[in-house]
Amino acid sequence: MPEIMLKGYKCSRCGHTWIPRDGNDKPIVCPKCKSPYWDKLKTIFNKKR
Ligand SMILES: [Zn+2]
Repeated sequence: MPEIMLKGYKCSRCGHTWIPRDGNDKPIVCPKCKSPYWDKLKTIFNKKR
């Protein structure tokens, strides 16, 4: 059974994955949690160490 890999994005904050309708534009916010930092790892909030 062939697996199809679609080009999509994954939010690193809520784990939501989605496929953009326009393949060229990178989404500004995650459509689920509306975070503008969906493509960034959670390093900003790890300042305790
Ligand atoms: Zn999200």
